[in-house]
This record gives sequence, C-alpha cells and structure tokens, in this order.
Amino acid sequence: MKKKLLIDLAMIRESLPGKSSDRHRPDGILSRYPNRDGRKTIREQALFRFTCRKCQDAPCIAACPADALEKDSLNMIRRSTNLCVACKSCVVICPFGTMMNDFFEHHRTVKNYFDFDDPDEIEKFIASNPEGAVTWVDMNEDPSRDIYQLNEMVLVKEREWNKE
Ligand code: SF4
Ligand code: SF4
Repeated sequence: MKKKLLIDLAMIRESLPGKSSDRHRPDGILSRYPNRDGRKTIREQALFRFTCRKCQDAPCIAACPADALEKDSLNMIRRSTNLCVACKSCVVICPFGTMMNDFFEHHRTVKNYFDFDDPDEIEKFIASNPEGAVTWVDMNEDPSRDIYQLNEMVLVKEREWNKE
C-alpha cells in the first residue's frame, strides 16, 4: 500500500497558541486534489468538509460578489481561487465561522505554507508541526477513529461537527 500522510488537525489546532483563526498555522497546499479551482490548502478542504454545516440556503454563496462559491455534488462548498477576490464577505456572513481569513492569503508570500508537490516541503511541514501531529502511515480511511481520506495522498484526523 502507498504510504499516506496522516494529519491530526485537532492536535495541530490545540497545540498552537492563539485562536482558531490564527493565520500562522502550518498548512499544506494541495494540487493533487482533483479540482479545477486552483490549489487548496489542507485546512480549507478539511473545514469545508468537517466544520461547514452545509446550510441549505448557503448564505456564503449568496454573499459572494464574484460567484466564487458553489456546492459540489456532495453538497460541499467549493471556492474557486481563480474567481475569489478576497473580499471576505463569506467569512462575515457564515454563522458557524467555517471560513477563516487565512484562506485568502497569497500562498507564495506567506510563511508556513508548504507545497505538497515537493517531497522536501512535505518533510518541512512535518517538522514544523508538533511531534506526532503529522505522520506517514500505511492505512486507509477509518471513520471509527475519525480518520478520513482527503485525497489519495492525505488522511485527516478530525471530528465531524455532527458526529455523536
Ligand atoms: S454559510 Fe458557512 S456553514 Fe453555511 S454553507 Fe456557507 S460555509 Fe457552510
Ligand atoms: S472572499 Fe472570495 S469566496 Fe468569499 S465572498 Fe469574497 S470573493 Fe467570494
């Protein structure tokens, strides 16, 4: 089995100082995720999957002046990084704090973003996180342990907002 990177998002969140909106958290930028909307960070993908309540009326979509947000076939919000103008209207209107300001930073100019297409950068990402928060593993998705597959390379450990 091909090894995957297991990222314990709760451990990263809880071990770092500052609020959950702290923009200096280590984050990986993925281009392997099959999307046509530009490169995404792990946290953006994970938050849309786990934190987002998937509101039926999706006020974030209605508030976006650039038509940059849409729902995909799994009812998950997707942001087109190519259309987004970083106005942050969606951040303000989301009643559940799903989106965070650092989604809208320019990845190349901000420290603590690591390119997952580059093996050296992945190792730097691992080293920048608390020990044990990011590990190479030989396993598949296991929802009973709150471990989910984000893409073919990355597993994320996080509790879904609506899980008992
Ligand atoms: S408003 Fe917030 S919680 Fe509701 S769909 Fe949009 S991002 Fe998700
Ligand atoms: S920050 Fe981007 S996605 Fe959010 S409302 Fe503004 S243009 Fe739309």
